[in-house]
Amino acid sequence: MDRRNFIKNLGAGSLVAVSATALSTNVSAARKIKWKMVTTWPKNFPGLGTGANNLAKLINEMSGGRMQVKVYGAGELVPAFEIFDAVSSGTAQMGHGSAYYWKGKSEGAQFFSTVPFGLTAQEMNAWLYYGGGMELWQETYKPFGLIPAAAGNTGVQMAGWFNREINSLSDLKGLKMRIPGMGGEVLKRAGGTPVNLPGSDLFTSLKTGAIDATEWVGPYNDLAFGLHKAAKYYYYPGWHEPGTTLECMINEKAFNALPKDLQSIVMQACSIVNQDMLAEYTARNNSALHTLVTKHKVQVRPLPDDVIKNLKELSDEVVADVAGKDELSKRVFESFSQFREQVVAWSDISERAYLNARSL
Ligand code: CA
Repeated sequence: MDRRNFIKNLGAGSLVAVSATALSTNVSAARKIKWKMVTTWPKNFPGLGTGANNLAKLINEMSGGRMQVKVYGAGELVPAFEIFDAVSSGTAQMGHGSAYYWKGKSEGAQFFSTVPFGLTAQEMNAWLYYGGGMELWQETYKPFGLIPAAAGNTGVQMAGWFNREINSLSDLKGLKMRIPGMGGEVLKRAGGTPVNLPGSDLFTSLKTGAIDATEWVGPYNDLAFGLHKAAKYYYYPGWHEPGTTLECMINEKAFNALPKDLQSIVMQACSIVNQDMLAEYTARNNSALHTLVTKHKVQVRPLPDDVIKNLKELSDEVVADVAGKDELSKRVFESFSQFREQVVAWSDISERAYLNARSL
């Protein structure tokens, strides 16, 4: 090769190299996907809000930074109860909430969150992943252009905070209580007045007497809101929320526009958060309960058996009524009920029998 050709070839090679670098930079810039996640929780709220943060962080890490999700607390981009519409319309690509907030969209949606005297966290995951629940959830959200995923679970919640003792069903009469979903409808049939408020409003509403009682989640979250400073009695068990599933809703068009590996990362990240949040709640509820009882002298009380029995009867009516609202809700109810019947038989001789045995 003479010198002239050598320089010519070198020049051409360098040009190719430069072009390739520029191309790859352009490709990685073009492929950096930025999503917004709106939530029904106060920003960074322990467990729920931090679970949403964790989901965003996982997607970022697992994608090597190719996909970045920015989390917005309730009210930052849209109010708490407007996130369903925001993700449906594409204002945000993702939302983190819980399906019972959307009964106005489809009554049957409540089954994908929790229903009174329904499934525990472990049983809910079994129904969703292996019992046909997820397919029905997808069908329920499809008309809104949304894809659902389970993305967290609180475990069994507490019945709530009261300023009066609950000795019989009549003590619930006239009670104005924050309690969402079907649990609220049960309270209504017991003579109370259910209201639904976002978490951030609970302390002030209870403290000022705008409401007489409230449920929220469990010791970990309730301590964080300071609810023990606004009510005297802390009742259990959370008959109305025995294992509440949190959700990630995803705008279907945005999801379909993702490359396959990022689609998988988004869904796997939801699955990780679904398990992780339950572990976190189980660990942190223990220590928060200890603090509430020993430091703040909270009176922890069980609801009397006959109150529970009455609430269960009313719950069965309420849950069955939801099934009568429309054809899809009926199918969701039937799938859920059939699964519950079978899982109770197994749980009785596994989890329940073991917990009883451990207490002997
Ligand atoms: Ca709750």
